[in-house]
Amino acid sequence: MSRSNTLDYLNNPSPQTLGRSPLEWLDRLQRPTVVRVAGRDPSRTRAMATLLHGNEPSGLFAIHRWLLEQHTPEVNLLFLLGGVRPAKIPPTLTMRQVPGGRDLNRCFKEPFEGEEGAIAQAMLAELQTANPECLLDVHNTSGTGPAFAVTITNDAAHQALASLFTDRLIMTDLRLGALMEYSEQEVPTVTIECGGAQDDHAHQLAYEGLVRYASQQDVLSLEKADWNVAVLRNPIRVELAPDATIEYRLTPSGQADLTFPPDIEHRNFGIVSPDEPLGWVGQKGLDVLTAISHNRTENMEQVLQIRDGRIYPAQALKTFMITTNPVIAKSDCLFYAVKATGDPIF
Ligand SMILES: [Zn+2]
Repeated sequence: MSRSNTLDYLNNPSPQTLGRSPLEWLDRLQRPTVVRVAGRDPSRTRAMATLLHGNEPSGLFAIHRWLLEQHTPEVNLLFLLGGVRPAKIPPTLTMRQVPGGRDLNRCFKEPFEGEEGAIAQAMLAELQTANPECLLDVHNTSGTGPAFAVTITNDAAHQALASLFTDRLIMTDLRLGALMEYSEQEVPTVTIECGGAQDDHAHQLAYEGLVRYASQQDVLSLEKADWNVAVLRNPIRVELAPDATIEYRLTPSGQADLTFPPDIEHRNFGIVSPDEPLGWVGQKGLDVLTAISHNRTENMEQVLQIRDGRIYPAQALKTFMITTNPVIAKSDCLFYAVKATGDPIF
């Protein structure tokens, strides 16, 4: 059995080991941690990673609750808790990564540099040893909104895995060094975005999905799936220029380059038609926005257009990962979009 200098190990942890709450458990964890639970069929293993981002707690909460209940899973389960260090920095569960550190979910590729690279490499070695039949990576979004799954491979096994949690699957050709790229090792792998980090229903969904993942004989056949999965292919990212300003108001103050209504998050996974305004632009118009595809092509005309200072979709769009957090909107992206059919815009 492999032993890493980077990871701690817990085998079939007792309730005493776990503490009464996930925060008590987190307090006891010192390093990235591997948790192994023996299954009814010890010849098979399923893996679940979470806490790659220290401020995304749904997976940790779900695993803690599930472990406390002392279930015997159908097959062996291998849990990988990645970002224990950032998660423990006070106030707990607020830091995506340690200050000055790298985003762990961009480090699952060579060269495995720095502390995060070492953690990613150790997690990959753990997966190689355990040889799981599938892998989940459980996250939260920064804004609120419904859950969705992300994959680099769209086939029946990946759809079946996603359907344990959600009926929306985003397929991307973008390669960033994310753990879900483990799919390339012929191990079906999906990222699950459970919904907002502060949302109780996201924590509940993570738990219910884990119960299904642990208790079903077969999680890789689509016949067994509870839902029909809608596949959204290669969404474009709409980004705001770094020096641009954004406000969330019912009417523009005239001070900002971009204004969205405060309830813009309700647009998540809805279809917006070309006659429905999304918000307002200031003097600079659409110049403060870019629309970038997975292969770095840019074409705003096919995404958004302006009429009378208002922003409209250039065609019927499905939009998601919309945030009302101006810091995220500026540092990450405003939203993602595909055609209403689920196909790429360009
Ligand atoms: Zn995340």
